Order: sequence, then structure tokens, then C-alpha cells
Amino acid sequence: MPQPMHGDPSPSEWRLINANLVLTARVLPGGTLHVRDGRIVALGRESELPPFRGAVIDAGGRYAAPGYIDMHVHGGGGADFMDGTPDAFQTAIRAHARHGTTTIVPTSTVARHEQTLRFLDLCRTFKQRGPDTSGGLCRVAGAHLYGPYFAEEKVGCHPRDEARPPTPDEYEQYLAFAKGGALLTATCAPELPGAAGFYRAARSAGVRLNAGHSNATWDEMAMAYELGVRHVDHFFCAMSNYVSVRSRSGAPMRGGIMEYVLASADVTTELIADGRHLAPELLRFALNMIGAQRVALVTDCMRALDLPPGEYFFGSTDGGEPILSDGSVGLMLDGKSLASSVRGMDFMVRHMHKIAGVDLPTAVRMASLTPAKIVGLDLELGSLDTGKRADVILLDDEMAVRQTWVDGRPVGEARE
Ligand SMILES: [Zn+2]
Repeated sequence: MPQPMHGDPSPSEWRLINANLVLTARVLPGGTLHVRDGRIVALGRESELPPFRGAVIDAGGRYAAPGYIDMHVHGGGGADFMDGTPDAFQTAIRAHARHGTTTIVPTSTVARHEQTLRFLDLCRTFKQRGPDTSGGLCRVAGAHLYGPYFAEEKVGCHPRDEARPPTPDEYEQYLAFAKGGALLTATCAPELPGAAGFYRAARSAGVRLNAGHSNATWDEMAMAYELGVRHVDHFFCAMSNYVSVRSRSGAPMRGGIMEYVLASADVTTELIADGRHLAPELLRFALNMIGAQRVALVTDCMRALDLPPGEYFFGSTDGGEPILSDGSVGLMLDGKSLASSVRGMDFMVRHMHKIAGVDLPTAVRMASLTPAKIVGLDLELGSLDTGKRADVILLDDEMAVRQTWVDGRPVGEARE
């Protein structure tokens, strides 16, 4: 275990020694990380850093990695962000912080208008409040407005009745939360009537644009791109491809969102690496075709994280969709179709590394620097670099998270 620090349990200046530092492109063995006032101020081999007589933590040869950034996550620990209470937010944030997430982007589900407003309001509150490390709460970067603007045929496990095309009366109220950065990113299916108006309005409000839950043709996705869409939710899942668009456009066969992403050097996407959504060869295929700079890991986790198998609501307990957890994935009530994950980011990184065979710096990067860039936070977060915030996790050989710091302060209790 890491050595406890003496005296002040959370000094403003401290040093982590004897760590395998997981840098963006390599692991630096025997590394030292120096933290002052919540930021990384120096790192390297111990012999390269000046002597230091303050608080020191011995990592015991464990990996020290940048904290994970989850930009697509619905809940955990029994709570969903759509439950609409501060308690639910705290429960879900705390659950993911235990799994190594240091920055979280709460993600809505298809729901009634006032529920989405409540969700956005809570995102703003928690973002403004900042991380509460002693309470086990990591950083809330802002909201991902995910739905209700989904195509009916690709609605997945979201409540079907509430999926709808965007209308200005409604979305202007959502986009008002972009002021101050509480609304970070928004998803809309490109083929919906009103999608272009939504993209224009969201873009001028400074919100990042995603396409997802869509059966869009190549041309519709190209329109979305012209209007500023640069990210596509969960690659392979609830998205169009040359097979699915055939039901809409017949022959000749046409491209869909999948082909558009593969062909576009500046469109990013994400993978659910829980071992149940995508087989290892598809994880490797996406990484090899798209590249670690353009494909992030996300949990897409619902409330059943860390809870036993059983029936749960996806989305709010009020109007959400009843689904099942078998303990390793969410399923529709038919027990066949997948319905989000029940894993934290530590699991996703472990799976990419140990099962899909991706090298450790790349697997970690897909959960840190890549999502940081996608949501525009990479100047502050996402890698162990001088000047960045000291959001750091200690990992053992099994990639289990043993200690977490946000802004250089220890988060809650280490995971046992
Ligand atoms: Zn989804």
C-alpha cells in the first residue's frame, strides 16, 4: 500500500516517488511526480529532480496514471443522473471516482422536458461546487445532453415515447445552460427534422456537437459535419452503417455514420470496452483504423455499477426504462439486446490492455488524454504533464485503482 503521509493529510506540496509513470506514449519506471497547489510542477526520474524534504508518498512500484475522464456515463452505485436529486448525483459520482474516474461528464437519457432541465441544473450546481475530495466526489466537467433527440429506430434502451425531434422552444432552454460551461456537449441524430437548426443553435452557444442514436445516411452525416458535428457516440452501437441505411435508401448501397467516421480524419468517437458490447477484435479494429487520438473509452454505465444482478431503471426511476443487469452488462427485458454497461473505467482500461492486447499507455490514453481533447479540457487535464492539474491514480498490476487524487488531494478512501 502507498505509505501514508505524516502530519497534514492533504498538504499543498508533496511528492510521489517510486512509481511507474504512465506517460502518453511510454511508461517511465522509477518515476517521481512533484505536486504543488493542485498541479504537477515536475516529473521524471528521482535523480533528475531537486532534493525535497516535504511530504513523500512511496508508490511501491505501482503505476501512476492520469485520472480517467468519462464523457458518457449515466449512473452508478444505485443512482442515475436523471433521478434528479443531489443525493443521486453524489452517489453516482462517488461510485465512479472509486473506479478511477477523476473527471465526469454526467449524461442524460431520453426523458420529459422538466426532467432534462432538472438534470442540467444539477450539473451546473456540481460543476460550480468543484471537486469535494473528502466527500469522495471527483470533478464534474459539465453535462452531456444525450437525448431526447434520437431517431426512433435507433433509440436503444432509452424510453421510446419521449424520443422526439428538436424544437427551438425546448432546446433554447437547454442551451441556456451552456453559459458558464455547464452544458459541454450535445447529441442529436442528423436525420431528424430540425436537426440542422439544433446544431446551429448549439454551436453558437459553444456546445460541442455529437451525432448518435441515428440511422443517418452518409449525406445526412456530411450535413451534420458541415454544421460542426465532430464526434459520434459509442462506435458500432446505435449508429448507422451501409447495412442499416439500406432500409431507408435502397440500392445502390450507401454509407452511414460508421463509414463516415472511418473516412474522416477529424471526427472522433468512443468505445464501450466492457467485454460484452464489442469483441476484442472489434476493439482492436476500431483502434487501428481510427487511432488512439480519435477514439476514447467511455463507460456508458448505468446505475447498476457495483450492485448485484437484478432489474433496474435505465434513466430516472420516474419514467425510465426497466432493464436488467446480469452483473456484467445491462440488458433489455428480453435478455438479449444490450442496454448500457455496468462497469467503471478501471474495467474498460483493464479490458483494453489485458484482453484486447493494447499497450498500457495507449489504453490509459484512450481514457484520459483522448477524452480530455474531445471535450476541450486537455490544457488542464488528461496526462501527467507539468502544469496540468494533479488528477492522478495509482494502479496495481491488475489495473485496479488503489489511490486517487484530484487537484493533488486524495479522494475518499482507496478502493480495496
Ligand atoms: Zn447510447
